[in-house]
Amino acid sequence: MHIETTAIQATTHTDSEYGSIGTPLYQTSNFRFRAPGESTGYDYTRSGNPTRATLENVLAQLEGGERAIAVSTGMSAISTVLAHFPAGSHIICTHDCYGGTARLLNHHKTSGTLDVSFVDLGDPSQLENYITSKTRCLWIETPSNPLLAVVDVSALTEIAHRYNLLVCVDNTFLSPFNFKPFKFGADIVVHSTTKWLNGHSDVVGGAIIAKTKEHGDRFAWLANALGTTTGVFDSWLVLRGIKTLGVRMRQHETNAHAVAQYLSKHHAVNEVFYPGLVSHATHHIATKLLEGFGGVISFRVNGGIKEVNKILAATKIFALAESLGGVESLIEHPATMSHASMGDELRANAGITDDIIRISIGIEHIDDLLADLEYALSLVSRSHSYSHSSLAEVIS
Ligand SMILES: *Cc1c(COP(=O)(O)O)cnc(C)c1O
Repeated sequence: MHIETTAIQATTHTDSEYGSIGTPLYQTSNFRFRAPGESTGYDYTRSGNPTRATLENVLAQLEGGERAIAVSTGMSAISTVLAHFPAGSHIICTHDCYGGTARLLNHHKTSGTLDVSFVDLGDPSQLENYITSKTRCLWIETPSNPLLAVVDVSALTEIAHRYNLLVCVDNTFLSPFNFKPFKFGADIVVHSTTKWLNGHSDVVGGAIIAKTKEHGDRFAWLANALGTTTGVFDSWLVLRGIKTLGVRMRQHETNAHAVAQYLSKHHAVNEVFYPGLVSHATHHIATKLLEGFGGVISFRVNGGIKEVNKILAATKIFALAESLGGVESLIEHPATMSHASMGDELRANAGITDDIIRISIGIEHIDDLLADLEYALSLVSRSHSYSHSSLAEVIS
């Protein structure tokens, strides 16, 4: 089945009693036993719930894994995976990862539970230099955030597996519609379902998907033990969001291409980061691994933070807000918003400068999106060209 069909078929769990087309919402904390020692398969919702099980089933199918666990947030997914490693394990992580991931890993590092190296994974041949006898895991986020560098997951995985590392890929930015990490050797995929998978900015959620049943069972056990599994209503909302994943992702990308092209030609913009652009540094890897480029774009503004703030204050359709992946367009400033928690040093090493703006492209009409950006960017150019025009007036 194609992914669009799976996204609809697998999210529909018909009840045996009434034949509902919509998946029933089993909003209950516990379940009656049929007899002593004989449950219906469900006893307590932290451990399992039929609505959440439907979501887990579709997530496993979309990624092509054996088992998925739906957890309360993307950070829950990451925390649960990290809990798998014995104390003192060493983790190698993409240096320009999500700010919350960096914060959590730094917490483990300073508290001494895990050792962590933040590494530029752009050159896979460098990976071996960081692997020690304690290294247990390679944590990949691709494309990186906010510079959208795509790394060669296939080459990295091959090296990591020579050293028996567990390869985890945070696939939030692309969604299974655009990238299938298991095809390129990943062992574990995590998602913040808050983003594209739910797609409607009304849920925070996460998922862990395992390629093997053994890992799936291990993470299901950990999620239950840690209490990170997600709520029933949130599961139901994500199920509903996933039904339209295909049409949404296609429209997000069509709009993103148009915006990226537009920004590339604008004189207020210094550099555009979008893996779908031929000019992007990792475009060649992106075309090799990805089925689509997603809907997030970052760009450098000429004139620095003062001009950045003008743009952020001026857009009307692009809402000034963190996060991404919803049907509505958003604009944000990584240095002071999404990546503030990373800390100055790590942020500087990852090249996340103050003049960068990140936008998440929604599915509004492209003409309205471009008009909104045109107005905001024109404020920058007018202030730059003001002295020129006034000078021209004086001369004439
Ligand atoms: C948002 C995000 C997370 C964290 O997810 P939450 O649902 O906010 O906890 C993790 N990784 C990436 C790449 C994200 O964008």
